[in-house]
Amino acid sequence: MTHYLSWWERSVLLRPFDFAVLGAGLLGKQIAIRIQAQYPSARIALVDRSPVSYGASTRNAGFACFGSISEILDDFHRSSERDVIALAEKRYRGISELVATFGAGAIDYKQCGGHEIFTDRGDLELAKDKLSYINKLLSAQLGVGPVFSLRSSASAGMRCEEECIFNPYEGMLNSGLLNEVISDIAHRAGIVPLYGLDIQSLHSSQDGYTLLASNGMEVLCSQLILANNAFAAPFLPDEDIQPARGQVLITKPLEKLPFKGIFFSDKGYNYFRTVDKRVLIGGGRHLFREQERTYAFGGSENVREFLENYLREVVLPGLDFETDMHWSGIMAMGAEKMPIVRRVNDHLVICVRMSGMGVALGPVLSREVMELLS
Ligand SMILES: Cc1cc2nc3c(=O)[nH]c(=O)nc-3n(C[C@H](O)[C@H](O)[C@H](O)COP(=O)(O)OP(=O)(O)OC[C@H]3O[C@@H](n4cnc5c(N)ncnc54)[C@H](O)[C@@H]3O)c2cc1C
Repeated sequence: MTHYLSWWERSVLLRPFDFAVLGAGLLGKQIAIRIQAQYPSARIALVDRSPVSYGASTRNAGFACFGSISEILDDFHRSSERDVIALAEKRYRGISELVATFGAGAIDYKQCGGHEIFTDRGDLELAKDKLSYINKLLSAQLGVGPVFSLRSSASAGMRCEEECIFNPYEGMLNSGLLNEVISDIAHRAGIVPLYGLDIQSLHSSQDGYTLLASNGMEVLCSQLILANNAFAAPFLPDEDIQPARGQVLITKPLEKLPFKGIFFSDKGYNYFRTVDKRVLIGGGRHLFREQERTYAFGGSENVREFLENYLREVVLPGLDFETDMHWSGIMAMGAEKMPIVRRVNDHLVICVRMSGMGVALGPVLSREVMELLS
């Protein structure tokens, strides 16, 4: 539906902004809040196509994690060791900052620790082999004691190798509450929410940018910050940004949960946790890579089937469960694991391609954006 502007809309409500942030996910909102704190009298717009954000931020699994040992080892194939460990540090610091800023109670954060389980003996042996090496790298970077340790997985009742690897610094949170708390702060700070605008194209001029929405509305700004993650690809054709759909399902409440906390397997591609008396599980993307390289929300039967089988065979063997919901979120990946945070020109800064780590990275990367804007 075309929106024909009135004089009041053009001259007041949509008068040019000092800053416009495109994308009101976790990154966009944290960036807008930081801009407002540094430039209290600036006029700031937060632009999104959806009233509650529609990407990954409200659709993930609620993990506050900085990575299992096999995931870190796998990342060494994609990025340099230095970059991988530096990125792990950003996730570690980011989680601490999330909790310190918003409050553990407000976002239902629990530092429960995370277990990586193994269904393949060879993968377990490889991780054990590298354990002290990775611990040494992480301890030197984070200034903490050994991160990973061997534990018995037997008491959890899962069908997996008897040893698992524990990381005490991992935690879980409630993604709904996290998004709500950050939205409340953004709105109370006077940031103008322009929700319901699906931006189709960006036009630069010597004064800044014009964002053109599908309904014909235009948003003018002096500084534009692109924070729409996977969906930035059409606006940045020279960047390596690929969509990656992550599918998740949650069971109905179980009578008795055999375990509590958060778990990973298969290099972090599969992950599951408890949510009250339910089990939430995500993953399977690595088995259907081409199919999952998509912007289409919703889910597929083959991934759903994989996740339900994984629950039945590995996570909850011998226990009855029923699936309550199945959904997906769209992440952004590239050949490199590092997110893209940089100034493109005098009027444009980008903070995109979170590589499935944006919950943990948000506080640190939003600060990096501020350094580029200052
Ligand atoms: C299943 C799953 C599991 C995950 N697990 C973890 C994890 O364990 N740890 C972790 O740290 N992270 C995890 N993530 C990733 C994390 O959720 C994302 O990295 C993070 O939410 C990205 O936030 P964002 O604000 O950059 O992007 P998004 O949340 O994708 O927000 C982008 C926003 O831009 C808007 N938008 C896009 N295009 C347009 C347009 N043209 N016009 C207007 N608006 C537009 C969208 O509506 C959306 O609201 C997971 C994600 C998924 C899906």
